[in-house]
Formats: sequence, structure tokens, C-alpha cells
Amino acid sequence: MIEQFTKPFTQQEAIPEEGIERAVEILRSGRLHRYNVAAGEEAEASYLEQEYAVYQGVKYCVATASGGQAIQLGLRVCGVNAGDKVLANAYTLAPVPGAIHSIGAEPVLVEIDQNYHIDMSHLDEMAKRSGAKVLLLSHMRGHIADMDVLADIARRYGIRIVEDCAHTMGAKWNGIKSGNFGDVAAFSTQTYKHMNSGEGGFLTTDDDEMAARAIIHSGSYMLYERHGAVPPKEVFDRVKLEVANFSCRMDNLRAALIRAQLPYLDSNIERWNQLYDRLFVQLAGIDGISIPQRSQAEFYVGSSIQFRADALTEQAIPKFLAGCASRGVELKWFGADAPLAFTSRYDSWHYIKDMPDLPATRAALSKTVDMRIPLTFGLDDCDVIIAIIADELERHTS
Ligand SMILES: *Cc1c(COP(=O)(O)O)cnc(C)c1O
Repeated sequence: MIEQFTKPFTQQEAIPEEGIERAVEILRSGRLHRYNVAAGEEAEASYLEQEYAVYQGVKYCVATASGGQAIQLGLRVCGVNAGDKVLANAYTLAPVPGAIHSIGAEPVLVEIDQNYHIDMSHLDEMAKRSGAKVLLLSHMRGHIADMDVLADIARRYGIRIVEDCAHTMGAKWNGIKSGNFGDVAAFSTQTYKHMNSGEGGFLTTDDDEMAARAIIHSGSYMLYERHGAVPPKEVFDRVKLEVANFSCRMDNLRAALIRAQLPYLDSNIERWNQLYDRLFVQLAGIDGISIPQRSQAEFYVGSSIQFRADALTEQAIPKFLAGCASRGVELKWFGADAPLAFTSRYDSWHYIKDMPDLPATRAALSKTVDMRIPLTFGLDDCDVIIAIIADELERHTS
């Protein structure tokens, strides 16, 4: 019998009922804009920022219109200006170099290693060579590098770190939450991330001035005291006339959707990891597939899984993916020469000046296959998916 999988890989769970009810209330009130509050009322977006700051264990959280915007603000509050160089690991998604480019700054791409982490010796070399003062570190697909080694390099060169936590909301390294290693962190609440408001994001930081700047950059006008997680007024007085408004606020409607999801985030992470671990054990047992090791220090969120189809030639990989797709299993290939859907390799971002050749990154990705793990799947679904992958792998192994 040819097994077929029928659930969509892009179907997220419904928004919790309490979030839907709150959203309807906000719609009825007409006060969707975060600074549009009735007398004595505190905005939904402001509550969300306070609650997320508590979850994250930081002083400040600024809600934004997208994760990409949060990254952009993060770079700006770290002092990045047009013409500056910004270090970034080459394994990431397009909004990351895009955020650097949007400031007029230049990405300096850094190699990754076989475990999908930024390559520390290449980082050291590129930091020295480029003189860049900021590193935009993507914890791409939830793989967290050795943050002690990284912090050491950053300290040595006086480099500030912006963490892109789009795939690590709720993840930890050595017990410390991802996002709390750098100077600022950016999170996404876009539909495919760990909380879903359609579009949205957060910037988090412990730094008073960075928080004040981020709030004004996000488009607070002079209404910043309507934020809940907010630095002292003197800090704003110091910076308010020199910080540009980039209009990328989150609205109350989205904030209501996320507020309702935050209490479930940790239990959702447990559910993701059950699915991940089920897939991991079985994938690792298939001949011709390998899965890079994760460090003991890492507490990951298994919202996606990556594996290497070692048994296949590069020519066979598209056929293997097509075979899986025809049976309902949607896999992505980060090694493809041409960008496809959400997936692209660094060398497809042609706007980057003097595109480097990054052989280690291409080698790490050449046979890397990526699969989303939506929470609408159950453990039995994992077994069907694995059976199809194993079968298609065998069919395409020459
Ligand atoms: C999704 C994503 C972003 C951008 O988030 P948006 O909210 O879609 O702008 C940034 N970095 C990575 C690694 C992502 O996956």
C-alpha cells in the first residue's frame, strides 16, 4: 500500500477562544491603535509588552509590526548606520540580510559549521577583517551556538549582539533564555512562529536607552509613557528629538491574540518537543540520513527539524522532495541553487555587495532537508511521515 499523508504542513492551531473574544471586544470598541485609549484604560499592546518582558525575564519589551522590523530597530539601537558593516551568519532567512540592507548597512556573511551554528573561527576572522561593531545572530531553525565562546569573541572586538530569536522563542542555552545573551533580541509572532498574530514581533532589552530609542523608533510619537514596560522619563528626554519614527507599531488587535497564547507557550513547547523527539529518533534510525548533534546545553523548541539526506546525490534531492510531496510530505531544501517559497540560500541575495564564497555553509546545507512541525500534527502523524520519507529515500538512492 502506498502511504499518503493528508494534513497540511502550514496549518496552525486556532487562536484560543479568550483571544478571539478579546479581539471582538476591541473591534467593537474601535480602539485598535495602541495609543487610542479611553480614560483610565491601558492598551492591550502595553499589557502584552509587560507580560512578555516577564516571560522573557528582561526589563523591556517593545511590540512591533513584524519580526523583521524588530530586527531593524535592534540594529538601529545598537548604533548601526548607513554604510556600516554588520556581521551575520549566512544560514538564515531573507528578512535578516533585508533588515541590514534596509538601513543601508552592509551584511558581512559568516560561515556556519556542520551543526548549523555560526563558525567561531570564521566569525573571529571576519570581525577582525571587517571591523564591524555589530553581529546579527540568527538562531536559525532553533540551533543555538556556544554562547560562551560567542560572547568571548564579541567582548574581544567590542561587538554588540542583536539576537534573531524568530525560531527560539522559549528556547534556552545553559538555562538562560535565548534572547538574553545579546544587547537586544528580536522575536517574530508571524503565523509560522511560536505565537501567531498573523504579523508581529518584539524587541527585548535590559538597556534603558536602547529601550527608549526602540519605543520612539517604533512610532510612539511623544506618547511613550503609555507603554507599560518603559524606561524612566529622563532617558526619553535625552534621546527623543534625535530618534526617527519608523512607524512599525503593533496594534491592540494583534496584541490580544498573542496575550491569549502566551500562557500556553511553555506547554506548546513541550508538545513541539514530543513531536520533534518522535521524528528525531526515527529519522536517526534510517540508513542514509544523519542529524547533526545538539549540545547538552541547548533547550530547543522543536518547531522544525533538519536532517541530511546523505544517501542521495544532489541531483536526486529535488526528486526525493517531489516524491515526498506527491505523498503529502512537504520538505524544503536549503541547498537549492534557486530560492523557493520561504527558503533561499545566501548567494541568492544579490544586493549584497562583494558576495563572498562560503564553501563551508554550502557544504553544510547541500544535503540539508528541512521540515516544519505544526502543532496540528499528532504522534501518529509523525510515524506516517517517517514511513514516507524512508520509502522515498530508498527509491531515490542510486
Ligand atoms: C520569520 C523570520 C524573521 C522575520 O520575521 P517576520 O515577523 O516574518 O518579519 C526573521 N528571521 C528569521 C530567522 C525568521 O524565520
